[in-house]
Amino acid sequence: MTEEIIKLRAHHGMCIAYFQGQGYSEIFTEHMKSIIKLLKENPIIQLITRADIICEKCPNLIPKRMKCNTAAFVQECDKKVITFCGLEENQILTWNEFFKIICERILFPEKRALICGQCQWNNLCALSDINPYLLK
Ligand code: SF4
Repeated sequence: MTEEIIKLRAHHGMCIAYFQGQGYSEIFTEHMKSIIKLLKENPIIQLITRADIICEKCPNLIPKRMKCNTAAFVQECDKKVITFCGLEENQILTWNEFFKIICERILFPEKRALICGQCQWNNLCALSDINPYLLK
């Protein structure tokens, strides 16, 4: 049986790193928890710059267009993450590989705000530690 590849917006790697159980709605927050649980199994992911498995339950997703209502901003974040990580759009790798690169190239050198400093959640991420269980 082939393992399903999870399509993940590149900048969501950072959202996951600092997730503290808060989000756009209760449904979204519960969904986020279930995705993080899934990622703990270290699945194969594909880095994308459009709506993904996390966006599916977000109230900011415009369903008819399957597009975020801040599409330009979040897509820019996705592209910056991919560039900072030295990866490519649509690249396939494991979640653990991706998260290690994000940590080494963005989070540990404190470059996160260069990418998503304008996000509404910036202050929360700035004051939070990386979820320890993600750091293996
Ligand atoms: S729809 Fe937009 S705000 Fe919601 S999770 Fe996706 S990228 Fe983030």
